[in-house]
Amino acid sequence: MIPLPEVQQFVFDRVSRREPVEVPLAGALGLVLAVPVVATEAVPPFANSAMDGYAVRSVDTARATTDAPVTLTVVDELPAGRAPSVAVGPGQAIRIMTGAPTPEGADAIVMVEHSARDGDRSVLISRPARAGDHVRKVGGDVAAGHTVFDAGTVLGGAHLGVIASLGQATVVVRPRPRVGVLSTGDELVPVDSGPLAPGRIRDSNRPMLLGLVVLAGCEPVDLGWAPDTEDAIAAVVERGLATCDAMVSTGGVSVGDFDFMKAVLDRLGEMSWFQVAIKPSKPFAFGLCGARRVPVFGLPGNPVSSHVSFELFARPALRWMLGDDRPARPVVRAVAGSAMGRRSDGKLHLDRVHVECSATDGRFVARRSGEQVSNVLSAMALANGLALLPDGPGVAEGDDVMVMLLDLPEGLAGPLRYGSPLGIDNDAPHDDC
Ligand code: AMP
Ligand code: MG
Repeated sequence: MIPLPEVQQFVFDRVSRREPVEVPLAGALGLVLAVPVVATEAVPPFANSAMDGYAVRSVDTARATTDAPVTLTVVDELPAGRAPSVAVGPGQAIRIMTGAPTPEGADAIVMVEHSARDGDRSVLISRPARAGDHVRKVGGDVAAGHTVFDAGTVLGGAHLGVIASLGQATVVVRPRPRVGVLSTGDELVPVDSGPLAPGRIRDSNRPMLLGLVVLAGCEPVDLGWAPDTEDAIAAVVERGLATCDAMVSTGGVSVGDFDFMKAVLDRLGEMSWFQVAIKPSKPFAFGLCGARRVPVFGLPGNPVSSHVSFELFARPALRWMLGDDRPARPVVRAVAGSAMGRRSDGKLHLDRVHVECSATDGRFVARRSGEQVSNVLSAMALANGLALLPDGPGVAEGDDVMVMLLDLPEGLAGPLRYGSPLGIDNDAPHDDC
C-alpha cells in the first residue's frame, strides 16, 4: 500500500494545463484568470452623487441649522445618465439623483432628507455640508492603470461585475476542462430503466460523478456505460480519449475477475495501478492515455469509494487544470461529537462526518453521518466533511479530530438568522441603499 500524499503527488506531477483562451465575460463564471485584469479606465469614470439630494457649495451651507435653514436657488435638475449643463454658483444648488455627475462648482451633496423644497426655484438646507460629503470620487472603486485581479483569480459574480464596469467584454482564462465520465459493470442499469431484474442495481455513480465534475468547475461529458467486456469498454474509453481533456471511470479497478478496465487502459496508455493506504477507496488507477495523453482517473466502483477517490485525486487535479492554484479542500480541527472508533490496519480512514459550528463557542463539532461502509452512499450525501483518522484506535468523544471540509459546516451555512451572533445584524447602521 502507498501513502495517500505520494499518490496525490504522482497525479499532480502528470497533469498539465491547457493554453489560455479569451472568452466572453458571460461564460466566464467559475473560470480562472490566466493573465491579470488591469483597469484601462477608472471606476467610477466621473465624480458622482452617492445620494438623492442637492449638489451645493459647502461654504454656502456652513450656517444652516434646523431652526434657521439656508435658502439656495435651484438652478437645474440632474437625473442619473445626464451630463451637467450649468455650474453651481454662490447661493445656488442643483437637484441631483444618485449616480448623476456632480456639477462644476459643487463640492458636496446634501441628502434630500436634510432639505425642504420651497416652491419651484428654492430649497431650504437644514444642516451644514462638509466638502466631499456624499460625493463618489473618480476611480474611488478602481483607479485607472491598477491591477484589479491577479492571474489565478477564480471568477465569481462580483469579479464579472467589476470587469464589466471596466468595459472589458472578454477575459483570458484557462479553458474549462471537458471531463468524460463512464461507468462499467454488467450489473448496472440506468436510473430510468424500470423495475430491477435479479442481480441488477442502478448506476448511481455516473450521475454522482457528473455532478461532482460540474461542482469542480469543469464541463461534464456523459460517456455512458459499458458492460464488462474488453471491446465495449475500449469503445467508450476511445471515444472519451478523442473528445475529452480528462476522463473519470468508475468500476473495474480492483482485483475482481471481470475487471477488464485494467486491460483496456493498459493497452491505451501508461497507467499506474495503486493500492492506496486509505479506507475507503483503496484501489485507484491513474495514467495518461491515447495520442493526446489524456489524464484518466480510474475510480473504484463502490459508490462511497468512488466519491472519496474523486475528492482526493480527481477534484484537486481538475481544479489545478482549470488554473486554480489552491485546489485543496480546507482541513480544520474539530471536536469529535461522538466516538469514532476504528481498527488498526495501516490505513488512513476517511470517515463521512457531519460538521457543525457550535453556537456556544464557535468550535467545529464532527459526528459520523451514518454507517461507515463503502456502499452506504446516503452517509456520504449527509456528510459535509471527511474525518481524517490516522492508523490506530480512532478518537473518543471530545477528542480533537482533523476534518477535510467538503462544504461549509452547518451553523456557518444554515438558515438565515438575522440578529444572531453568527448571522446578519439587521439593525446595523447603513449609509445608503
Ligand atoms: P467494482 O469496482 O467494479 O468491482 O465494483 C465494486 C462495487 O461497486 C460492486 O458492488 C458494484 O456493483 C458497485 N458499482 C460499480 N459501479 C457502480 C455504479 N456505477 N453505480 C453503483 N454501484 C456500482
Ligand atoms: Mg465491476
